[in-house]
Amino acid sequence: MNHAIADAFDKASGAKTPWNPSRSAIARVKNPLPAPVTCPHCGASVEIVSNALIYGREYGEWPWAFMCTGKFCDSYVGMHPLTGIPLGTLADGPTREARKRAKAAFNPLWQAKAMTRSEAYAWLAQALGIVNVGECHIGWFDVDQCQRVVEACASRRNQGEKNSCPA
Ligand SMILES: [Zn+2]
Repeated sequence: MNHAIADAFDKASGAKTPWNPSRSAIARVKNPLPAPVTCPHCGASVEIVSNALIYGREYGEWPWAFMCTGKFCDSYVGMHPLTGIPLGTLADGPTREARKRAKAAFNPLWQAKAMTRSEAYAWLAQALGIVNVGECHIGWFDVDQCQRVVEACASRRNQGEKNSCPA
């Protein structure tokens, strides 16, 4: 479906929810992950919830999340706006913390304009041995992969400092 038709369909089909997503928003998501059915951390089933269950009130422009139903598990992940497509894999507390650390190490690479965002991802994919850069998303990574992001960014920074030192 082309974007003009998708936009027209969206206008005609009423309020958007994860169950009535925007077709044009879906078309813009490049490497959609399937909606999670079971939690990768505890194996319990996953349901779609208002993110008020997580944050205490609805948060953001698309206040939905996939959440684990496991009693002792707090894994969840948000969705691409106007879709039912997860932003990444379901994250438990340690995974969320590890992803935060990875983003804090990685984002300055392209935010500082030393390279473009896609150049930065191409470099990261190579550093982690990920063949398809389309599969290189911090939101898809587990704790170990996040740790490798932090290490790769640190050694890149050290390398840069060495190179810029006068001999
Ligand atoms: Zn779980």
